[in-house]
Amino acid sequence: MGSKDQKVLIVDDQYGIRVLLHEVLDKEGYSIFQAPNGVTALQIVKDEKPDLVLLDMKIPGMDGLEILRHIRNIEPDTKVIMMTAYGELDLIKEATVLGAITHFTKPFDIDELREAVNQQLVS
Ligand SMILES: [Mg+2]
Repeated sequence: MGSKDQKVLIVDDQYGIRVLLHEVLDKEGYSIFQAPNGVTALQIVKDEKPDLVLLDMKIPGMDGLEILRHIRNIEPDTKVIMMTAYGELDLIKEATVLGAITHFTKPFDIDELREAVNQQLVS
């Protein structure tokens, strides 16, 4: 079970994905934040210093990689898990170079993603 001291930020332009992840991870006991775009996401990273960020690759405006680069400048130790679409291999490689822990291809198995989050936030 997670603790409210542990903060997870969900970044996705799709409302349905944010709501789903919010509900599932809130049940795990974490403090959840969500952002529909890069500007909001980076503000939350600055203000809240989340332990882990679930980051969508394809976001209008600032995309996932660009957001990841900014996160690395603001809070280098933040754990980041990417959420990608099928076939984004080059982008995934680049995200790995930037220190993303792993990625989940949409549509992902919510239980597997929940387990991955729990594994990363084990204290
Ligand atoms: Mg998207």
